[in-house]
Amino acid sequence: MSYVDEVLAKVKAKNASEPEFLQAVEEVLDSLRPVIDANEEKYRKEALLERICEPERQFKFRVPWVDDKGQVQVNTGYRVQFNSAIGPYKGGLRLHPSVNLGIIKFLGFEQIFKNSLTGLPIGGGKGGSDFDPKGKSDREVMAFCQSFMTELCKYIGADTDVPAGDIGTGAREIGYMFGQYKRIRGLYEGVLTGKGLTYGGSLVRTEATGYGLLYITEELMKDHGESMEGKTCVASGAGNVAIYAIQKAHQMGAKCVTCSDSTGWIYDPEGIDVELLKEIKEVKRERLTAYAEARPSAEYHEGRGVWQIKCDIALPCATQNELLIDDAKQLVANGCKAVCEGANMPTTIDATEYLQENGVWFIGGKAANAGGVATSALEMSQNSERLAWTFEEVDSKLKDIMVNIYHNIDDAAKRYGMEGNYVAGANIAGFEKVAEAMTAQGIV
Ligand code: NDP
Repeated sequence: MSYVDEVLAKVKAKNASEPEFLQAVEEVLDSLRPVIDANEEKYRKEALLERICEPERQFKFRVPWVDDKGQVQVNTGYRVQFNSAIGPYKGGLRLHPSVNLGIIKFLGFEQIFKNSLTGLPIGGGKGGSDFDPKGKSDREVMAFCQSFMTELCKYIGADTDVPAGDIGTGAREIGYMFGQYKRIRGLYEGVLTGKGLTYGGSLVRTEATGYGLLYITEELMKDHGESMEGKTCVASGAGNVAIYAIQKAHQMGAKCVTCSDSTGWIYDPEGIDVELLKEIKEVKRERLTAYAEARPSAEYHEGRGVWQIKCDIALPCATQNELLIDDAKQLVANGCKAVCEGANMPTTIDATEYLQENGVWFIGGKAANAGGVATSALEMSQNSERLAWTFEEVDSKLKDIMVNIYHNIDDAAKRYGMEGNYVAGANIAGFEKVAEAMTAQGIV
């Protein structure tokens, strides 16, 4: 049995109840086969793959808080410190009822390679809770965030582990958590990223994941002799990533005609009105039905369905496993040229393979949504030097990083004879740096 298959079997036996984690490990290890096979004896002796698939440390804790009726509620908090070979742990905090240890482990595992791809010195981690901020008052959200941070603050720090936002954790939640960290630890330091601009946040961090997604998409198109001008895009999601992806697509001369949330989706043939979407989602925190009510050109549909709309470019920006094999078939049938993932693991493995086999240029989230964490690392740099850079400065660094990522993953795929397989290219390029650092640091 090959070393990759041996490790896959061990990981499956050990983590049988964590399907998302297994899916992420399988996708990465499968595409690393040519690299591992070339160094099989060395890596097996060092148990390098077993080590990379096992978090360095993970915390699971009780988060009690009091709701507006005076009732005590109890949630579960998590932080997985997956790999610190190339820098302090870095990765977001997800607040969503679906959160469990397996989801956090899948995200933390992906984060190792994504962070490595940015070229910046950041290791992989992830955290969160099964708390749902939706429908809660500001006071309830604050009560939860303070309780969550009261425990989390024991494990994080500006030089050890620096969490950020993710699904359900936006500027409001980061603000409450930062305040509580500062109060308990007595330290004013860059322990979280995605902070407000008045207390250490970086310009462009809010826009970074969506903008970065479009910068890499544009480079992909350019490399294939195409431009963004006049292209039709479909996006899923209506949160942080989706909003700024749509905005940048429009700035580049493309038109994005869909968005979605967990209850339904919008088709707006005139192009999504980003200002209206921001008002509904960021300010009023309403459902997408409010968008359709305010915009005569838009249709609202219950359930899921954005992938049935004809497009040149598909941008999944909501959550994991939201683009399935039938969606992939529909995209191919409609002549879609490129799929670039804003979310983490939104496309299932069979759907990814179908897209690749049918000539769709596919860039996975590890590379395509790395702009968020890259800009978080730029926020850490600014905090360390106690300076704030201009919007243009951060934006141009973000763009350079995304263009570099594209060429790194393209080159890595070519080096191993897999030209055009950007998924393998991303896994290989991300892995090589981490593996080298782990080997250099001995058996830890
Ligand atoms: P937000 O919470 O801002 O938005 C998430 C969007 O996806 C919302 O529209 C939400 O709908 C929808 N959604 C969430 N869960 C589900 C579900 N189970 N089914 C259908 N729709 C769902 O999160 P972000 O935009 O920050 O994150 C989106 C994705 O991008 C995630 O996979 C995240 O891990 C990834 N990502 C985010 C980064 C960032 O910087 N924010 C960086 C890199 C990756 P509703 O409003 O109804 O909840």
